Amino acid sequence: MIEKKPKPDKQEYTIMIVPHQGKLIRSFSMNDKVIKCGIAILCAGALLLGGSYVNFNMKLKVAQAEKVELEQYRLNNGSQQAQLEQLVQDTAVLQEELNRLNKLEAELRGIVKNEQATGTSRSGIERPSPANQGQGGPVAKPTVQELTALVQQMKATAKAKEENLSELKAELVAIQAQQAITPSIWPAQGDVTSRFGWRQSPIGWGRDWHPGLDIANSYGTPIVATADGEVVESGWNGGYGKMIRIDHGNGIATVYGHNSSNLVDVGAYVKKGDVIAYMGSTGYSTGPHVHYEVRVNGNAVNPASFL
Ligand SMILES: [Zn+2]
Repeated sequence: MIEKKPKPDKQEYTIMIVPHQGKLIRSFSMNDKVIKCGIAILCAGALLLGGSYVNFNMKLKVAQAEKVELEQYRLNNGSQQAQLEQLVQDTAVLQEELNRLNKLEAELRGIVKNEQATGTSRSGIERPSPANQGQGGPVAKPTVQELTALVQQMKATAKAKEENLSELKAELVAIQAQQAITPSIWPAQGDVTSRFGWRQSPIGWGRDWHPGLDIANSYGTPIVATADGEVVESGWNGGYGKMIRIDHGNGIATVYGHNSSNLVDVGAYVKKGDVIAYMGSTGYSTGPHVHYEVRVNGNAVNPASFL
């Protein structure tokens, strides 16, 4: 409760505080200068408060905008994360394809090596280049789009290469199979004592037709099959003595004569390089050697053309 006392020169205000029952009434007075000062302080306080509110509001708006931005960033980041995971999966698939290529390449190398070991390659197919020359990852940090494009490109390359190599493998397997049944190695180690063709007869007078190749070595030297095939004859055959004949298919057969002993029976299937007999001098022979013949459709041909 404020009571105004009429004093012209100096206005003074008395402030009375009336408490609840049974307590003293307090009163104190102040002049208008103090009041004005108080009002000024209050106004300044209100202005400050208002300014602070505006400032707070602005900061709140900025914070909200930043939050929206952050959410957007998180969304984008999540999307990129998903793309990156897809890329990782694609890369794994690609790796598997490349592993298959490497395996295929290893198989091819084995076939080519085998082919070279027999020294009879007539395929004309060049040694295949390594399945993967290495694409080389980008040096600069690529975008997800660039990575995706790269993976797609590598996938296509790997697929095309796999198809090419598969075709090459099939071709080489066919060549290898053909070579397996083609007489292409020497039947025994030793010296060539008589070639294919007309020669001075070793037994008796005059010249005779020699339908094979004579290779001489010590008694018991191993004689091997010069190609895969089936034994169709194993036993005594006149001047050939103990003889073996192997059918290699495609009208091709090989004959091994004058053996001391045969190791395979008719019906046996032998592989190129298998020991089939031991060298001897049975039949019309002047010393231990193998008489080796190659027959095409029953006709003896020069074995040298196969060696
Ligand atoms: Zn002979």
